[in-house]
Amino acid sequence: MTGNDPQRTLTAYPNTQLYIDGAWRAGKSDIAVVNPATETEIGRLALSSEDDLAQAAQAAARSFDSWRKVPAFERSKLMRRAAQILRDRAEEIAVIMTMEQGKPLAESRVETLSAADIIDWFAEEARRTYGRVIPSRADAVRQIVTREPVGPVAAFTPWNFPINQAVRKVSAALAAGCTIVLKGPEETPASCAALVQAYADAGLPAGVLNLVFGVPADVSRYLITHPSIRKISFTGSTRVGKMLASLAGEHMKRATMELGGHAPAIVFADSDVPRAAKLLATAKFRNAGQVCISPTRFLVEESAYDEFTEHFVATTKAIKVGNGLENGVQMGALANDRRLEAMERLVADAREHGASVLAGGERLGTQGYFFAPTVLGNVPLSARIMTEEPFGPIAPISTFKSYDEVVAEANRLPYGLAAYAYTRSSATSAAIANDVESGMVSINHHGLGLPETPFGGVKDSGYGSEGGSEAMEAYLVSKFVTEHR
Ligand code: NAD
Repeated sequence: MTGNDPQRTLTAYPNTQLYIDGAWRAGKSDIAVVNPATETEIGRLALSSEDDLAQAAQAAARSFDSWRKVPAFERSKLMRRAAQILRDRAEEIAVIMTMEQGKPLAESRVETLSAADIIDWFAEEARRTYGRVIPSRADAVRQIVTREPVGPVAAFTPWNFPINQAVRKVSAALAAGCTIVLKGPEETPASCAALVQAYADAGLPAGVLNLVFGVPADVSRYLITHPSIRKISFTGSTRVGKMLASLAGEHMKRATMELGGHAPAIVFADSDVPRAAKLLATAKFRNAGQVCISPTRFLVEESAYDEFTEHFVATTKAIKVGNGLENGVQMGALANDRRLEAMERLVADAREHGASVLAGGERLGTQGYFFAPTVLGNVPLSARIMTEEPFGPIAPISTFKSYDEVVAEANRLPYGLAAYAYTRSSATSAAIANDVESGMVSINHHGLGLPETPFGGVKDSGYGSEGGSEAMEAYLVSKFVTEHR
């Protein structure tokens, strides 16, 4: 682990306010934002009062009447301007993101630049919200289907990708003609606010996009039950997602739920095992494993176990851990102390169940939430980590003997977000693509999360998509019009 640079930490980080009806403003109180690499306070975050939330919802409701009428072509142009502003500010935003979230600067930069690509994608989709003409049964009748924005949206986004989780919801909603109240992540607010600022500077009219923070349960209850809000979108844990989805159901609000996963990573003995080990280890420790589509259950065919673990452990041990602001750091601190405690608990439990620690296994240092990239070998299914999403830098490896056995294991959990497989057999890859219960399957490479491809889960991982043309569907309703001439 490398040392920290507190001086840089103290000078560059902005305080974050609420953005309501086109203006930044203080809240009813504020809380500290902490750098997870140093455990020091780096800024303050304003929290909303109920009155702030009411004004944000009213602003979204009022501006919906005009925003929905802005031609898609104009919405698209404005969004492209916001994308360019983000690109222009990527370096500055990346520093802010690393300071509040912990991930290496290179990852923060990629996240900011790919957010601009996501905006561009939705800007283009805005121009393709086609309706259709349905052949009628009588010559004088014309039947058409138009696509309309669903209405003001309440969106809730987490701390693991402070911009990326927000930009998908915000941009799809704006492209569709919806307005938004976004509850950003309280632990990583400033980079999310930079996204909102980019939209504001691109010329988004007042009230169309509002940013609030607060006690998550209070904000979500207020906004979901607010009569002006017509659509809910949440990214976070399955536990919270189920609560919000049932509240949305009670109030007949449409919802998109992007929840937890526990992705199987299946390695068949006929694959290029060293390549699989290297790619999977690299993917596993990205953002210190705090990724909903992170490969998390490594299921390796028995005869390939030794070769796979040897390469996987070598890649893992070579990862440079430290303050994400420093050059060459490949894995930063965990985003908060809850993740650190969870890692310690999961490793202790796996050990008690007979797993061996092949790399890492413990906290690094005493300041900052650093946990060593960890590999656990021969992990029995009874260990908690084979059922509970780790959401951190631990890779548990188990073995399997047959295709049927590994598919049953892949499908054993209630989750179904991402799945990975490595094989040289086209018959096996086709069978995996069919048999694994998952919203996304990536075979022989890591190809998930592009703006133009669907992104979402099945089963307890939620419903709805946050990528591809499917993502627009979430913010549109169909209207059927039939006319007799
Ligand atoms: P958590 O369940 O308390 O919170 C997860 C996210 O939901 C946070 O952003 C939080 O602010 C928000 N949240 C919590 N309660 C809420 C409520 N009542 N209304 C609205 N939002 C609410 O857990 P945590 O300790 O922050 O994160 C740990 C777990 O969360 C992980 O194990 C993982 O399963 C899940 N998570 C998933 C994602 C994802 O990308 N799908 C991102 C972050 C966290």
